[in-house]
Amino acid sequence: MSRKLNFSSGPAALPEPVLQRAQAALWDLDGTGIGILEHSHRGKAFRAVLERTIAALREVGGIGEDFAILFITAGATHHFSMVPQNFLGEADTVDVCHTGVWSAKVMAEARRYGHVHVACSSAPAFDTTPTVQTYSPSPRYVHYTSNETIYGTQWHAPPANPPAELVCDASSDLFSRPLPLAGHGMIYAGAQKNLGPSGISLVIARKDFLATRRPGLPPLADYMTYVDEGSMYNTPNTFGIYMIGEVVAWIREQGGLAAIGERNTRKAALLYDCLDHSKVWRAHAKPGSRSNMNITFRGTTPALEAALIARAETAGLSGLAGHRDVGGMRASIYNAFPEDGVHRLVQLLHDVERDA
Ligand SMILES: *Cc1c(COP(=O)(O)O)cnc(C)c1O
Repeated sequence: MSRKLNFSSGPAALPEPVLQRAQAALWDLDGTGIGILEHSHRGKAFRAVLERTIAALREVGGIGEDFAILFITAGATHHFSMVPQNFLGEADTVDVCHTGVWSAKVMAEARRYGHVHVACSSAPAFDTTPTVQTYSPSPRYVHYTSNETIYGTQWHAPPANPPAELVCDASSDLFSRPLPLAGHGMIYAGAQKNLGPSGISLVIARKDFLATRRPGLPPLADYMTYVDEGSMYNTPNTFGIYMIGEVVAWIREQGGLAAIGERNTRKAALLYDCLDHSKVWRAHAKPGSRSNMNITFRGTTPALEAALIARAETAGLSGLAGHRDVGGMRASIYNAFPEDGVHRLVQLLHDVERDA
């Protein structure tokens, strides 16, 4: 059976050479005679996997020793509560850049611990990343979502002049372009968009920022536990760490983050160009705020959208329906999604428009 073109927003398409390597490693990791799922996390073979994964992340991401790299057995949603639990006292305020569904969840969780100030908002259309932020006098940190997976917007530069450390949910664009580490206290991401399987998150955080967390937290809720124990306080998601390492090694083979970022921009431009020249399809996000990862769009009629979905399924293009909360269409084209697949979607958009 042939594989489909998978436009899923996450879990999402992974690089095929990585999937093939992982198939072999399930059976026998690195010639050890034991599969990756079966190795003890304390053994030499897994140690080597962990070390090479962190080394690849540092090299490809340009991440220095002032930043910790942590693996946490939970999705990005876990950090919506864990970040304020660690950093937001009752009297503290977090400034949030509100750009959609994810930042709404960030704010709801932060309010359990302290105060929330909306530094900027693109509600209700959520079709931009606001250029002007109004910060509170002394926020504890400033949170933004670098890529709004559901509405299809992306910050092309982090929020300007933050008065405190930036904390970024980069779940859907981490390692899709060069990392903007400056000004950041923490960047976190669930792995299942660009980096690996679901159920594991990657945290890249300044060690001195982490050290300012509130004391007395339960060990698995305390970021410093992961620093002190090398993400091995308890049994980590060994397979997830293995997969992240292989995906990042694949990114290195593709020429690194600058090269993959250029390719992602080119892929997305093919689609936006098609949408902007169409009489029946319309991109949701405004130019300047458009995501290179999730291209959201609508047809002029529901019938047109239904026709596109139906013809896409027949042609082996899967996962184009928009998020259940916002409707419309969404093409998620992360790192591993092939350029040729984007050309096939563009052709289909033309075909459905012609036949309408
Ligand atoms: C997918 C996603 C999440 C949620 O990830 P989970 O693994 O389901 O917790 C959070 N933020 C963004 C930006 C996402 O794209």
